[in-house]
Amino acid sequence: MRITRISDEIQRLTADNGGVFTGPGTNTYLIGNEELSIIDPGPDLSNHIEDIMELGDGRITKILITHTHPDHSPGAESLSNELGLPIYGCITESSRLRDLPISIHETVQHRSMIKSSDHEIMAIHTPGHASNHFCYLYNGFLFTGDHIMQGSTVVIAPPDGNMTQYLDSLEMIKEFTIDTILPGHGDPIHDPYDEIDATIAHRLKREKKVLGHLKDNASIDIESLLPKVYDDVSSLLLPLARFSLEAHLIRLIENNQATFDGQRYSLIE
Ligand SMILES: [Zn+2]
Repeated sequence: MRITRISDEIQRLTADNGGVFTGPGTNTYLIGNEELSIIDPGPDLSNHIEDIMELGDGRITKILITHTHPDHSPGAESLSNELGLPIYGCITESSRLRDLPISIHETVQHRSMIKSSDHEIMAIHTPGHASNHFCYLYNGFLFTGDHIMQGSTVVIAPPDGNMTQYLDSLEMIKEFTIDTILPGHGDPIHDPYDEIDATIAHRLKREKKVLGHLKDNASIDIESLLPKVYDDVSSLLLPLARFSLEAHLIRLIENNQATFDGQRYSLIE
């Protein structure tokens, strides 16, 4: 069991699903003492679900999910069935990242408060990585799921993923008082506002690079654009980067900075 104690009231259990998408594996968080809320039970791995139940020791009362991608939510269904517990979260219709069917018992909304006997968690709607993505805030800890990861860049896959919404959600979470970011993948981030600003700057720098290459070409298709814009990432990651590039291009079209003829993109000057 890979358990990390984050604070008196928070423990982290990392699932054994490390990889390109998932870094060291999906983090499952347990919040509370007398009563526990679980954030993101992760993939449906029987040993991970058993570990959660062992650590929970009969005290788990709620299951919260950040979004419904396969590395975050399928374990919720198993844990819910096993323990008869409600799942809090939100459903989406349009994902390309293979969401699995899941029963949501309590649909959360922006600023919903999820109350337990010894703790209270706020849901914060953060569309961008996925339209149904929520972060959760408890006592200065922001559980960011895939909105912000440690050590890897978040993939924005249209149409459910949306770059403008992603950037807006990053700006929006700065309104909240955050001491530490607890991501869905990787370690705690102790300089939250710097991290958020760096994430926004990274995306805008990439957008500038897209604009630069559009400027250099009268028109260009996405396959030709991809290795130019992402010349700094491993070619293994290009299929994932293609999603984010498409998201950047959609944003440029929405902002009247580029056009698309069905095959090729051009800059509007
Ligand atoms: Zn995800």
